[in-house]
Amino acid sequence: MTNSIEKIQGFSKVHLANSLSNEMFQLILFPTEQCNFRCVYCYEDFEIGKMPDWLVNATKILLTNKIPSLKKLSLMWFGGEPLLAKDILFDIAEHTLKLAEQYNCKMTGNLTTNGFLLDVKTLERLVQLKQNEFQISIDGDKESHDTTRLTRSGRGSFDKIWARLIDAANTTLDFHITLRVHVTDLNHESVLKFCDRFDTELLHDSRFKLFFKPIGDLGGSNGEKITSLISKKSAPALCNELTERYAGNAKKLDSVGHYICYAGKPNSIGIRANGNLNKCTVALNDDRNVIGKINQDGTLTLNNERFSTWVKGFTTLNSWQMGCPLSYMNHNSAVGDIPVKKVS
Ligand code: SF4
Repeated sequence: MTNSIEKIQGFSKVHLANSLSNEMFQLILFPTEQCNFRCVYCYEDFEIGKMPDWLVNATKILLTNKIPSLKKLSLMWFGGEPLLAKDILFDIAEHTLKLAEQYNCKMTGNLTTNGFLLDVKTLERLVQLKQNEFQISIDGDKESHDTTRLTRSGRGSFDKIWARLIDAANTTLDFHITLRVHVTDLNHESVLKFCDRFDTELLHDSRFKLFFKPIGDLGGSNGEKITSLISKKSAPALCNELTERYAGNAKKLDSVGHYICYAGKPNSIGIRANGNLNKCTVALNDDRNVIGKINQDGTLTLNNERFSTWVKGFTTLNSWQMGCPLSYMNHNSAVGDIPVKKVS
């Protein structure tokens, strides 16, 4: 399959075309920026709450105006924890699904969630609304996960999340859950224990996939603590080994060409819970990432200069700039027409 994909400078031709097409649109929504977790490495400050009513309505108007010209719409839900604002998520998704069916637009939906609130009833509703792809992060098995992924009240979250996964597996619902397993130098044993658990209970269920990620400095007030935990270099090696072991089950990004981050795609935009528009879902406190705002009538006011900085990779096809425009920008900038290679 790898060799049959037509590529340009390592990028899938189809993927490039889809990222530029006016008939495809990716809308990233932050229904709330509050979270029920306090992970030790979290970069969010939780200053913004739930989307207010005017913003939910404006988002629905935007979708009403946009869907008739689309062949494919992808909704992505971030937060905070998006399932803390289920009412808003269901409301917007229901509105969108009706329009998508009416205009024959293919609709997909993906939630980045901690999984804590993903009970079967919620899952059923999300599947009905075609919001059936999930990314849930796990920091190893219980003893490791419960030291970093804490609930707001300071308790470990592993048992509840695992119970949610098993409950989901016991249904016949059509969903896809990617478990993003964070690997540090200090949690190898625990990651391997988690793999044993996965092998015993979920390996034969094709709705579950594993994706191993060596954890980087994700910032936040506890970023320093995590940086010190990953100072050795063997986490990437274990990730590679496990990705090989689960080949067919683990997600291999390279097999479809270089990764293109949604932040770099011209037809992808995010709406924060305060109405600001953004590109990157990580640099939430970075002014470069405030590329405009949505108005009450569903129109967008865009800062074109900022917008074009994020999508510039399409003019260079530089794999770093396309794969993570934020990191590229942080290391490459210009003073007038003089390129500056590294900003310290
Ligand atoms: S620009 Fe980089 S940090 Fe931001 S969402 Fe994309 S890959 Fe993540």
